[in-house]
Amino acid sequence: MPKTSPIQVVKYLPATNCKECGEETCMAFAVKLLDHQVKIEDCKPLIKDKKYAKKLKSLKDLVTPPIRSVTIGSGDSTIEIGGEEVMYRHELTYYKKTPIFLDVADDDDEAEITRKAKFIKDFTIYRLGQNFYLQGIALRGRSNNPNTFANAVKTCMKAADLPMILCSLNPDVLKAGLEAAKGKNPLIYTATKDNWEEVGKLALTYNCGVVVFSEDLNELKSIAKSLAMGGVEKIALDPGTCAGEGIVADTYNKHMMLKKAAIHKGDKDIGWPTIGVTATVWIGKKKDISEGERIALAYEEGKLATLLISNACNLLIQHTEDIWFQLAMLVIKDNIYADPRINPAVDAKLYEIGSPGPKDPVFMTSNYTMTYYTVESDLKDMKINAWLLIVDTEGISVESSVAGGQMNAGKVAEAIKEVGLADKVEHKIIIIPGLAARISGELESLANWKVLVGPRDSSGIPDLMKKYWDLDKLMAQWKEMQE
Ligand code: SF4
Repeated sequence: MPKTSPIQVVKYLPATNCKECGEETCMAFAVKLLDHQVKIEDCKPLIKDKKYAKKLKSLKDLVTPPIRSVTIGSGDSTIEIGGEEVMYRHELTYYKKTPIFLDVADDDDEAEITRKAKFIKDFTIYRLGQNFYLQGIALRGRSNNPNTFANAVKTCMKAADLPMILCSLNPDVLKAGLEAAKGKNPLIYTATKDNWEEVGKLALTYNCGVVVFSEDLNELKSIAKSLAMGGVEKIALDPGTCAGEGIVADTYNKHMMLKKAAIHKGDKDIGWPTIGVTATVWIGKKKDISEGERIALAYEEGKLATLLISNACNLLIQHTEDIWFQLAMLVIKDNIYADPRINPAVDAKLYEIGSPGPKDPVFMTSNYTMTYYTVESDLKDMKINAWLLIVDTEGISVESSVAGGQMNAGKVAEAIKEVGLADKVEHKIIIIPGLAARISGELESLANWKVLVGPRDSSGIPDLMKKYWDLDKLMAQWKEMQE
């Protein structure tokens, strides 16, 4: 599919350059629209003025991604899945991190359902300046009983205001769940060749999205097409998720084939988000399995989930709760969904660690996110007060930026001046990373500051401070050198 250009987009904008959207021109708006930085709704004249109705429709058709977006949930916890435009991240970027839903069984007792729903709601991991969360609850109608299912929906809703997927093959069970979750916009799982007409009617009645399941891709497409023709506007596809020798590849291939048909061939019948259910690894396993078996299953689920996230699967239903498992999921999501066009960077400025004063040490490093948070964390662990000067290296790490010239003596000397370091501290000593040792001499002469070369890794800072941080001695040495 050829990529849409800003010129094509501008044709459908009012072209008045009125600036109501906050952009200088309609062309600037078009560029940002294609880059997902603004929404069509931000062009108020296009939305409000009836004379633009035709243009609005054409613009929506033009910019709708080959894999359409589907929303789940309501209010602040609403999430959007799908909306991707490319097969592989390096072709542009992936936009919507794979949401992770954990399964909850409706026939567990109320206390267990509440515990798991609260666990999902409260789960958070802090890593490299970001908090990571789980996104929702997939309630399995294991009881196959409408009342039990409806009560479990209510219990989940009481414990956590999160998007939900209501899972059952039985339309009566789904209907009971939808009644209990009225107004919450859940996704229903699943429409198959045997029940799709009834499930489709439920999706229309309750205005919710529906997941189609079939391991046969032709059948999957046919059911999705029939539902769309019948008026269902929110669809997701599950081509089956299987673990085990030989079948993992099959799972992966099916997801890739669906994406390829939607993105490369422009097949609108298949242009819906995909769902992977890695919780299938646990099907048929008893609760009282040994710890060794439990970890082996979690590991198996982890491998499958990693594979699907790497292929930008648009939503995963998982079972494993362990923190080591979820940490791996979150790290891989963060890496796969990082925009390859932008180096992850923090603002280049002077940061305060604790409450630094005029006699406290000054450290310098690059503005690469991982470098910043690693150094910051090591300094905070030491419980010292310090200044941390972050130099703009275009989001490149210390070693590479020294080699590539983004970190050089002139730039660091300039940064020292810009942040007014001489007014913040009484001394003129700056500690630079060991990997930037080669700029130390030039930096001393350009900045007229004494440079102390630190360790290659910030975990060595405590040792450096113990051995060398004697302010009077260092200042005396510096004066001596200048005479
Ligand atoms: S609000 Fe619409 S018409 Fe006005 S400048 Fe922005 S894009 Fe153009």
